[in-house]
Amino acid sequence: MDPKSLKLSPSEFNYMKIKILGTRGKIEPSARGYKNHSGILIDGKILIDVGESEYMEYDLEAVVFTHFHPDHAYFVSQQEKFSSEIALFGPEAQEFVPNLTVVSEKFNIGEYQFTPVPVIHALKLKSLGYVIQKGEKSIFITGDVAWIEKAEREQLPKVDLVITEATFINKGGRINRKKDRIFGHTGVPDLIRILSPMAGKIVFTHYGNWFFENVEDGLKKIKVLEEDVPLIPAKDGMEIEI
Ligand SMILES: [Zn+2]
Ligand SMILES: [Zn+2]
Repeated sequence: MDPKSLKLSPSEFNYMKIKILGTRGKIEPSARGYKNHSGILIDGKILIDVGESEYMEYDLEAVVFTHFHPDHAYFVSQQEKFSSEIALFGPEAQEFVPNLTVVSEKFNIGEYQFTPVPVIHALKLKSLGYVIQKGEKSIFITGDVAWIEKAEREQLPKVDLVITEATFINKGGRINRKKDRIFGHTGVPDLIRILSPMAGKIVFTHYGNWFFENVEDGLKKIKVLEEDVPLIPAKDGMEIEI
């Protein structure tokens, strides 16, 4: 499908409403309010990642995938076809998503302009973050991150909000190496350092095991890292307007 031919119902508002549907990473533990896997809903109609099948019950007009790990694409672990009448976008072809439009350059979904940002994360999968702009408002959703190259970061605009991940609270996270490749997840302190220059605020989601040892302490462990840029630990269903 040619994305430019997509017609979405126009928004009545000039703000963006972002709902974090799920905050749990690809781990066993969960807690009340932090149970669902990845999914971010924009203005009630564009879904970024489908960590739970229920997310498709929203009145969606498009779905955009950051990458095809099962906590971002529930159907991968179930080995079932994901077909939908609406437009589907992602970083690379996926056998379970026959109608996917593969993106690497800027594209539009209605009045939303998407700029894909290459993100290093997995050895065998491509990953993209997305800068999403609507009028004066903009956000950057990183997806899972081992690293974002400096050359990519330098091209990013200043955005109202960055939504990133919190698999590891320790500096450095857990990075694996194979030959000249790295993969895995960097740490929350590293993400704050590299994303703060572009971010009005930073929302954390995709919590790892460390968070579920004690949720109250987990929330504090993020807040103590706050300096110039407000840090917001997300909860399942949390809504933010920008
Ligand atoms: Zn993940
Ligand atoms: Zn992943």
